[in-house]
Amino acid sequence: MAQQSIITKNRDVALDKIRNIGIIAHIDSGKTTTTERFLFYTGKSYKIGDIDEGTTQMDWMVQEKERGITIVAATTTTFWKGVRINIIDTPGHVDFTAEVERSLRVLDGGVVIFDAEEGVQSQSETVWHQADKYKVPRLCFINKMDKLGANFEGTVGEIEERLGANPVVMVYPIGKEKEFRGIVDLLTLKAFIWDKNDQSQGTKYEETDKIPDDVKDKVTHFRAKLVERIAETDDALLDKYLNGKKITVNELKKTLRKATIAYKLVPVFCGTSLRNMGVQPVLDAVVDYLPSPADLQQVKGINPKTNAEEIRKLTNEEKFTAFAFKIQLDPHVGKLIYTRIYSGTLESGSYIYNISKDKQERVSRILLMHANQREDIDKAYAGEIVALVGPKETKTGDTLADPNYPIILEKITFPEPVISLAIEPKTKADQEKLSYTLQRLAEEDPTFKVKMNHETNQTIMSGMGELHLEILVDRMKREMGMNVNVGKPQVAYKETIKKTADAEGKYIKQTGGHGQYGHCVIKIEPLPHGGGFKFINKIKGGTIPSEFINPIEKGVIEAMEKGVLLGFPLVDLQVTLYDGSYHDVDSSDIAFKIAGSMALQNAAKIAGLTLLEPIMKLEVTVPEEFMGVAIGDISSKRGKILGTEKRTRVVVIKSYVPLAELSGYATIIRSLTEGRGFFYMEPSHYEEVPQQLIKNMVEKNK
Ligand code: GDP
Repeated sequence: MAQQSIITKNRDVALDKIRNIGIIAHIDSGKTTTTERFLFYTGKSYKIGDIDEGTTQMDWMVQEKERGITIVAATTTTFWKGVRINIIDTPGHVDFTAEVERSLRVLDGGVVIFDAEEGVQSQSETVWHQADKYKVPRLCFINKMDKLGANFEGTVGEIEERLGANPVVMVYPIGKEKEFRGIVDLLTLKAFIWDKNDQSQGTKYEETDKIPDDVKDKVTHFRAKLVERIAETDDALLDKYLNGKKITVNELKKTLRKATIAYKLVPVFCGTSLRNMGVQPVLDAVVDYLPSPADLQQVKGINPKTNAEEIRKLTNEEKFTAFAFKIQLDPHVGKLIYTRIYSGTLESGSYIYNISKDKQERVSRILLMHANQREDIDKAYAGEIVALVGPKETKTGDTLADPNYPIILEKITFPEPVISLAIEPKTKADQEKLSYTLQRLAEEDPTFKVKMNHETNQTIMSGMGELHLEILVDRMKREMGMNVNVGKPQVAYKETIKKTADAEGKYIKQTGGHGQYGHCVIKIEPLPHGGGFKFINKIKGGTIPSEFINPIEKGVIEAMEKGVLLGFPLVDLQVTLYDGSYHDVDSSDIAFKIAGSMALQNAAKIAGLTLLEPIMKLEVTVPEEFMGVAIGDISSKRGKILGTEKRTRVVVIKSYVPLAELSGYATIIRSLTEGRGFFYMEPSHYEEVPQQLIKNMVEKNK
């Protein structure tokens, strides 16, 4: 295929000619449409895919096509002006935060897309701060300038105020809404004008020095501001600026590049992807202002042997270091491990070392990915993003490196699932396939957890939201051909203790023949939220032989997973094993495991159990006249109002609300506001459930 040879031919480009970028956006702001235009203008695709028709290049999963949303971070490679751009597609829906986190982890730069009418939306805010966390330099594209109510300057203002960024306006729009027809490049002072009746899908446009009269004043104003802001980031340039000396466009570009990479400035562009206007300057900006692996120079990690911080230069000559950021199970090839090569090179057919798992792995194939197409390559270089086939043990977040120069790169942190669903196979054949299928899905997705409830014999799957679980069930049915029944989504509560307690577990059966004898005494203490589990062994002088300590810990963990109060996992506690006894003949692993489990249950009951529930950050946007009813409704749902913000035509109500109170909220807010309100929510933290509610739940459970 012609498009494949483009990639292979130009793969050995220098490091400074690579850009690993992500396109980051609130759902519906036009990320997919813009990516499509990127691929079209760079010559990668020959027909523009249209999201509304479900034929786009990047969104290839059936579910994505049907729902018109981006779920899986696909990658693709394309070329613009001699630079190789690797695009990592990030999903826009908050239920897929894991995908966003892991793409951000390996990006060198980002293009953030906004809807010119909506401005900075809540999710843009969340993703923006995630990108801050991973220190991703970025530029902004204000899309949908053709839309009724499009507000360029307002959106720039919001980028500054709401995101705390330092935006610099790079282009000024010509015309507005339906009359939008082009932009003025504020650096070169050239106007780019597209013809409405153009048949070239935006590839042809007029470039002129004649700036339309109606925007002349604005152009003068914003250019002065642009030059000033760029000059402020560099002492030598500032000196020139203050002394009224001439500053060339090249000087400005060079300084802006430095400032963007140092997160000091964020260049802002505008246009409309759907109407094919203003997209090419964004591609130019990716090349001009976003960093290459050469700019970043090095990556930091920890040497697992010495615990000392080490660095690797991002060059082909350096020792091999790579990071696995995504696992995808492919029906044809098997397990694909999306990997960013930070330093050194990797040949297909060679062995690598998984430092995180301390295991040698063989790489049988290396693939370059373009959405769902792939191409075999013999060798991968520093700075590349490839998919590996072969390694069996490697999981998301593992570091692969040279075993003689071990290093572990910073891990990705994933949020805890907040919602669960019981799932039951319909037939015996499905029963057999179920655990394998779920395991496969869990391997791809670190925010998807599976657990067996032995008492009810049900399998429980948990995830980040209803949509997340819905898509997974859909994939089980379609991709894996399973027949399953699913229950209603349930909130993923957790149990914990608030006080310290001591208790013993005794499992003794000595009625003739070989008996059972296990006995231990433990202390349990609460840990702060998120503290997890700690086990301390203080057995001295062989009160319990050392081989039985591990079984006791296993028993404790099993009891914690099962839960003590209502069957939810028990979390955030420390267990100290300090006494017990044994029997020369009757003691066994299993007897001590049961004793450990009993001790934990007894201690938890003495300490007193409480329940934690997920709290959602809920933002409701309504026309002002509905503010009262919306706030009243949130309060009736045990919600805490954090504040309200007035926007041009609407009010945004920010609050914390327990997830348990939010089922069916989409319908509720629609009926409360005559269909004019909408909301955004994401998991925030866990909080204790009010005692009265816990009592009711325990009562009901009986
Ligand atoms: P994503 O969810 O961010 O990937 O957004 P999509 O690319 O799927 O676009 C969402 C919707 O906005 C689709 O119906 C697009 O046709 C529409 N859209 C995208 N870009 C523009 C634009 O420049 N102007 C207008 N008016 N609509 C657009």
